[in-house]
Amino acid sequence: MSRAPRPAGPARPAGPRRPARPGRAEAQATPAVAASVPPPPPEAAAAPKPRRGRPAGPKPAAPAPGPQTPQDAAISAELLGWYDRHARALPWRVSPADRAAGVLPDPYRVWLSEIMLQQTTVPHAAPYFLRFTQAWPTVSDLAAAPDAEVMAAWAGLGYYARARNLLRCARAVAQEHDGRFPDREEALLALPGLGPYTAAAVAAIAFDRPAAVMDGNVERVVSRLFAVETPLPASKPELRVLTARLTPQARPGDHAQAMMDLGAMICTPRSPACGICPLREPCAARAAGLAETLPRKAPKAAKPTRRGTVFVALSPSGALLLETRPDKGLLGGMPGLPGTAWDRRGAGEEAPSAAEVAAAAPLAAEWRRIPAQARHVFTHFQLILDIMVATTAEESRPARGSFVPRARAQADRLPTVMKKALLLGLSALED
Ligand code: SF4
Repeated sequence: MSRAPRPAGPARPAGPRRPARPGRAEAQATPAVAASVPPPPPEAAAAPKPRRGRPAGPKPAAPAPGPQTPQDAAISAELLGWYDRHARALPWRVSPADRAAGVLPDPYRVWLSEIMLQQTTVPHAAPYFLRFTQAWPTVSDLAAAPDAEVMAAWAGLGYYARARNLLRCARAVAQEHDGRFPDREEALLALPGLGPYTAAAVAAIAFDRPAAVMDGNVERVVSRLFAVETPLPASKPELRVLTARLTPQARPGDHAQAMMDLGAMICTPRSPACGICPLREPCAARAAGLAETLPRKAPKAAKPTRRGTVFVALSPSGALLLETRPDKGLLGGMPGLPGTAWDRRGAGEEAPSAAEVAAAAPLAAEWRRIPAQARHVFTHFQLILDIMVATTAEESRPARGSFVPRARAQADRLPTVMKKALLLGLSALED
């Protein structure tokens, strides 16, 4: 259920909320936005989740923005005015002033930043973005890079399937599009690893196409602006329609970035700063006193726990045993510690038996289990890794992996869970 935003007027100066705030009953008396929102198109209403778990078939596009009502146009104009004054300076962004002066965004940088920013924060992603664009300044440079180098540079950003898709996409753009990203949402959707969100973001930000861009920040802003009380994720189709409705035909890229900035800086998950928000007048959630309670979220199912064992082997000369994980599966193609299986469905749901641990040992040695465990939370499960350690004979030949000098092993930028296990194992060996 949602409520109509209040008519947008000139912004009031920042200050305390008005004393006689309308209550729920008054807010409910306003016409519900749901009544004025066209039903989502069938492909949006039935939109399966992007990528993970998405069945094969054409990827669904976000609803296309249409003509705006005067009220929606006033909201986006207010927002763009705020963005012109307060846009964040980000390494991948063309500022609104430069954009107005005719500077065009580089679609490669827009795409790369959007892939990196999925599931992580701007401060965490920014150094990776700078390293990537320094090492591979164009999409063709990235396409020509060896897989192992790119995977190692990605280590620490998580969601390693995304890094493999990043390479597949770069190669598709280099080989099938002559090194230039397509400028239409539908063509972008056909590229590997681009779901509806990323295709819309690249189309809008890089090419100023009027595409409706909805990330987590935008979901929150729109939920509040229209006081959508249906819990996420069931509310997503309605939020997509509302996001499309707000998207202007002029400056859609700046509008998308303005929504993201508002969500990141003002309309934050906790304690939204409604007093200084450019949308405080039309905001239905603020008027109804619901801002901090929205968006509502359906309770999450508890994550299952998986168990595994990894082996930390140190040679007398200080070399460490590492392997490259198989291309398919979690952390695929990344460097890691040898161990038992834990990343396949049906594997690792219980602690591995002594026989499984013995079978997974990469070489014969005096293995001992240390008391500490490495714990890590993935999207769909949490992982607990037991750690076996041994100092090996210099001439030991492993059945899997190879010894690499310790300095290189640590510089290899292991995935976070492997780094945790390695550090625990090394500290036990050196006690
Ligand atoms: S910051 Fe407050 S007024 Fe602004 S959109 Fe969010 S909830 Fe509404």
